[in-house]
Amino acid sequence: AQERYASIRRVPATTVYGPTIRLDMNAGLMADLPSLRSSGADGVGLFRTELQFLVRSKVPRRGELASLYSRVLDAAGDKRVVFRTLDIGSDKVLPYMKPQDEPNPALGWRAIRVGLDKPGVMRMQLQALIRAANGRPLSIMFPFVAQFDEFRTVRQRFFDELEHEDKLGHVLPEEVEVGAMLETPSLAFAPKQFFDMADFISVGGNDLKQFFFAADRENERVRRRYDTLNVSFLTFLEWIVMRCKESRTPLSFCGEDAGRPVEALCFSAMGFRTLSMRPASIGPVKHLLRRSNLSEVREVIDEARASGAQSVRPAVMDWLRQQG
Ligand code: PEP
Ligand code: MG
Repeated sequence: AQERYASIRRVPATTVYGPTIRLDMNAGLMADLPSLRSSGADGVGLFRTELQFLVRSKVPRRGELASLYSRVLDAAGDKRVVFRTLDIGSDKVLPYMKPQDEPNPALGWRAIRVGLDKPGVMRMQLQALIRAANGRPLSIMFPFVAQFDEFRTVRQRFFDELEHEDKLGHVLPEEVEVGAMLETPSLAFAPKQFFDMADFISVGGNDLKQFFFAADRENERVRRRYDTLNVSFLTFLEWIVMRCKESRTPLSFCGEDAGRPVEALCFSAMGFRTLSMRPASIGPVKHLLRRSNLSEVREVIDEARASGAQSVRPAVMDWLRQQG
């Protein structure tokens, strides 16, 4: 399928008259890295680090992790890789973790909540990342931040680790970026200081949508019930774009929906300038973006919103058909 888009692999996702959208890819294994070249992605916008923890029977060692992260950075060359710290709990259960028996795991003790309460594994992972960077730039992001304070705390822990590694004589990264995933609606209403402090924000649309509509992403009965292009959700995304603009915080969208061409087009029209998706989606998304005028798409979206439509999808699809 990627052959179909081979001719646009090396050209940017520049829209008609308009901005260029950065298209990153999501990854989680060393085996994903060759796709960076074959897909034409600009970088790795989300490296899910939990897979290494999920495939083992015990907690991986710091040295193992450092060597894997280092190989990932080698393979990426000068392309940016955003490492997401361990996101476990809920749908991602570690075989060696005591089952928590929670009534609602998706709303339970997961992701940085675990890292905040039991910092050992997170510290080890941060050390592995710093050592892997070994003087190169390092971008990390924390999943499932629900309030400012959580971000401030984990970010400080990262800086503490940098200091600690420095004292041990390790080479520090040339530059660091510390971002947050916006996956709970609460974070969109955090104080401005949060948006100022984050070096970047990435919308985890899979979780954000699940919590926005109160519809379990794992439950077949409800997971497709609400359209991502629902007017309420798009208006919420617009709010997030506005908050990030106000603080000049780079914003991306890294949930699965970013890899669906029509969704990617609408997110771009709402103001997103970076999308991160599975490698196979880069071609189709780029193809559509390159022949679309975002101001026109935005007009279609705004008209549909004003008309009281539930979703902008029918209007956007009509417009696409007219484009031929
Ligand atoms: C998300 O929630 O959109 C996301 C990118 O993270 P994950 O799918 O790993 O929860
Ligand atoms: Mg998530």
